Amino acid sequence: MAVSRLTVIALGVGDAFSALHYSSCVAVGAAGAWLLIDCPHPIRKILRESGSGLDLGDFAGTILTHLHADHASGLEGLGYFSHFVLGRRARLLAHPDVLAEAWSGHLAAGMRQLMSAESRTVSARRMEDYFDVGELSEDRALTLGPFAIECRRTIHHVPTTALRIRAEGRALGYSADTAFDPALIAWLGEADLVLHETNYGVHTPYAKLAALPAALRARMRLIHYPDDFDVTASAITALRQGERLEC
Ligand SMILES: [Zn+2]
Repeated sequence: MAVSRLTVIALGVGDAFSALHYSSCVAVGAAGAWLLIDCPHPIRKILRESGSGLDLGDFAGTILTHLHADHASGLEGLGYFSHFVLGRRARLLAHPDVLAEAWSGHLAAGMRQLMSAESRTVSARRMEDYFDVGELSEDRALTLGPFAIECRRTIHHVPTTALRIRAEGRALGYSADTAFDPALIAWLGEADLVLHETNYGVHTPYAKLAALPAALRARMRLIHYPDDFDVTASAITALRQGERLEC
């Protein structure tokens, strides 16, 4: 019998417009360590309601796939919670093209200065004051604890990366947001478990995924699906919010 060495918890499975689910967000565990993939607001409430018992202090790092708010809106909260409550910086991993605007185009407006409670004067802050930033590479895996993390650019409005995360001899593939991309699916398909998005517009149409070989579909779970997606009729099992998978 196969031994489960990677744990995946679906914290959120919805898209940016969902009235039913939290935005797509996943916790990945191995050998007692945890990674957070994407960080939508309100991330601590999302974690609490997952029933996983996980809180922000439990993660070795957060991987950010891209800067759309449904994936990144919890970063300010993560940075401030780490700074003021945990008393340390949050480890944040992303592709350099994603990191390029993470501060200037996203976080700086709400984090670039802090006021002293005593003097009421403000002093400047930088991304590095809150986050211990690591760059993912398309050429080699980045190691964090038991995890080896690979990334690959996807087809999306803004710079975005899919992920392959290996630990304990098992591998998880995560498409992040992407148009249908057979080369990406082949890359992801080397993993034991593949989480793939499906949605409208520039996203991946369900019909394209439903036409994939049955053996691959059996290892695939859908995420980032719209509220009107019929999970009961799907040829690929849709992740349910709060679901815990082992692979
Ligand atoms: Zn997106």
